[in-house]
Amino acid sequence: MKVLVTGANRGLGLALVRSGLKKGNIIFAAVRSVADKHIKELQSLKESYEGQLRIIHMDVTNEKSVKQAAEAVKLTDQYLDVIINNAAILNERDKKIEELDMNAVLQAFDVNTLGPMRVVKHFLPVLRIGLKEQVAEKQAVINISSEAGSLTNAYSGDYPYGMTKTALNMLTEKLRVYLKDEPVDVLSIHPGWMKTDMGGNQAPKEPNETADNIYRLIENGWNSSQFAFVDDNGNHMNI
Ligand code: NDP
Repeated sequence: MKVLVTGANRGLGLALVRSGLKKGNIIFAAVRSVADKHIKELQSLKESYEGQLRIIHMDVTNEKSVKQAAEAVKLTDQYLDVIINNAAILNERDKKIEELDMNAVLQAFDVNTLGPMRVVKHFLPVLRIGLKEQVAEKQAVINISSEAGSLTNAYSGDYPYGMTKTALNMLTEKLRVYLKDEPVDVLSIHPGWMKTDMGGNQAPKEPNETADNIYRLIENGWNSSQFAFVDDNGNHMNI
């Protein structure tokens, strides 16, 4: 499969790159900064998995950079099978609504919700090339969501983060409906509480385990006729 991973330089994104390469996939690792210090691990993976890894620049808040990344993928590899919208930020943690910096709230929406929208806007046509030419393997759009986006389990705090993930889930559902007659699975996945910069050291889960599970979900196919907001084992989350 040819897989795009956003936010690929650390955390779950990097684990998705590693796991995808081990499985023999072609991976487009999209990173906000291509400066050496940010992509050291990716560069060494590129050497270990010769010919399988492309490192591409993409800031998901910048539509021009998303469009250019899509054009670059088309040029070098013709089409894509899977989009994994992983990049996100968690800001304004534990603040009361009276304390929120609204610019930070806007920034969270820009990265976590509008980012995946920009990516799908420009990469869906690249997925469709594979469909049209009947060369595509498994096709999927995976939005990495969070239990923080669950309406039924809403908690006070993490206002921007929770709201951006609820809105991301709506993007998932709108896309699922839009693509219902095409063989493209569309899922929102809660990856679990993971040891990453975002999840912190106390988290019980390793991102590598989550990444392997996500590939298993993609490979098995989903074929859901309903909204799919699931954990990385495929269990339904509370909407
Ligand atoms: P990290 O904070 O460890 O990594 C976030 C990644 O997103 C980094 O690669 C970062 O790049 C990238 N990123 C941030 N802003 C942008 C941008 N504007 N354009 C492109 N890339 C950007 O997060 P995790 O790996 O922990 O989280 C991965 C996903 O899992 C997220 O969607 C998160 O919401 C979700 N999640 C995580 C949980 C956890 O416990 N960790 C729990 C539930 C959900 P850079 O290095 O350049 O900043």
